[in-house]
Amino acid sequence: MPVKKRIAVAGGGAAGMMAAIAAAEAGAEVVLIERNEKTGKKIYITGKGRCNLTNSCPDEEFFSHVVSNPKFLYSAVYGFDSAAVRDFFEAAGCRLKEERGGRIFPVSDHASDVIKALNKRMDELHVGIRLNSIIRSVKKNGSFEIKLDGGEIIRADSLIVACGGKSYPSTGSDGSMFGMLESLGHSIREPVPALVPFHVAEKEECIAAQGLALKNVSLILKDEKKKLYEGFGEMLYTHFGLSGPLILTASSYYQKKRPKVAKLYIDLKPALTPEQLDARLLREFEENKNKDFSNVLGSILPGKLREVFPGRVAIPGDKKVNSITKEERKRVADTLKALEYHVTGCRAFEEAIITQGGVNVKEVDPSTMESRIVPGLYIAGEALDVDAHTGGYNLQIAWSTGHLAGISAAEEG
Ligand SMILES: Cc1cc2nc3c(=O)[nH]c(=O)nc-3n(C[C@H](O)[C@H](O)[C@H](O)COP(=O)(O)OP(=O)(O)OC[C@H]3O[C@@H](n4cnc5c(N)ncnc54)[C@H](O)[C@@H]3O)c2cc1C
Repeated sequence: MPVKKRIAVAGGGAAGMMAAIAAAEAGAEVVLIERNEKTGKKIYITGKGRCNLTNSCPDEEFFSHVVSNPKFLYSAVYGFDSAAVRDFFEAAGCRLKEERGGRIFPVSDHASDVIKALNKRMDELHVGIRLNSIIRSVKKNGSFEIKLDGGEIIRADSLIVACGGKSYPSTGSDGSMFGMLESLGHSIREPVPALVPFHVAEKEECIAAQGLALKNVSLILKDEKKKLYEGFGEMLYTHFGLSGPLILTASSYYQKKRPKVAKLYIDLKPALTPEQLDARLLREFEENKNKDFSNVLGSILPGKLREVFPGRVAIPGDKKVNSITKEERKRVADTLKALEYHVTGCRAFEEAIITQGGVNVKEVDPSTMESRIVPGLYIAGEALDVDAHTGGYNLQIAWSTGHLAGISAAEEG
């Protein structure tokens, strides 16, 4: 019997499990090493426990949702795209459904069913699983020597690193593998938290409006000179600043540039042109001539913003509407169309859905996921310097790069 190629997979998350399955399907003997007591710990908390495992958008559109290094992902995604991922999970017994915006979830709404399907497939393929095993160092002396906590050494012909980034370190992805990859000669683009809430200078205002969710607003993020991001959706006021899906997406573009000055402009009335908004204000003001300004705001703004808005436009809340000047009305309209916030930073990795940064993709062959620096070493998933919007795109990256790394490692040599 020909000797099977022995492949070690570091990390039992989405990318690592898919890599192990692909390598074993291609005939390799696979051992997967995971520090936690179980595989897929992060998958449990994805999609608020429901796991939005991919997105049904066409492959070409997929790349417009990737923030860092979309071109690097072409081979991986075209080779194992969303349709292939859906076929894989359905065949493994996890029935899927589609929701708004092409988001794909298990029919059961339980992320645990995604993990069960992966574990079942690994079991069928006799993937060896080493749980509670922290990798402390990696060396290459002909074969790979993977040293675990406690001193045991696992040897393998190839190694697939799928240890994730630094987000939600409580799930096991603490970035500890980056130092080991550096010791093998790789460079790491500084990992930073992304898809993460913002701190803003207007903190007091956010505290006053805490809990308020604004639906259907549009947002522009700018640095000193140019627009970094423009989007439409939902945002949320919190005790430290701003959050919600629209803000999380904006954070990925903020982190890409980390500008000294970053301003957010929220259009609270995106459906109205400035002229239509002025006409609306004029009508409101005429119908409520003898009321206080703050009372009229009730029909224009949601609850908690009403209290802070007079300060924003420097019009006393108790000023009678009939004495508001044309300039003041213009100020109200301009502020409703572009409520300004100054971004002072992002929340930490503990609250970040994704890590931006990671292994420099120039050092990885995009057609195989093999390291250009260490032959036989493959890298997959969030450990790479790739990240995408919310909507199932990040898990798709993990499945695609994991799958490609797995088949390449099994077939190489
Ligand atoms: C709250 C939250 C919700 C999310 N929701 C979604 C969603 O709905 N849809 C979506 O597409 N994406 C979502 N994401 C992003 C997605 O979960 C990740 O992009 C994806 O899980 C990355 O997979 P990975 O296998 O590359 O890394 P990880 O899932 O981070 O797996 C890495 C594994 O390696 C192990 N490991 C690390 N270092 C070592 C070591 N030294 N020794 C041994 N083992 C080690 C870790 O314990 C971990 O299990 C979400 C993320 C978070 C935090």
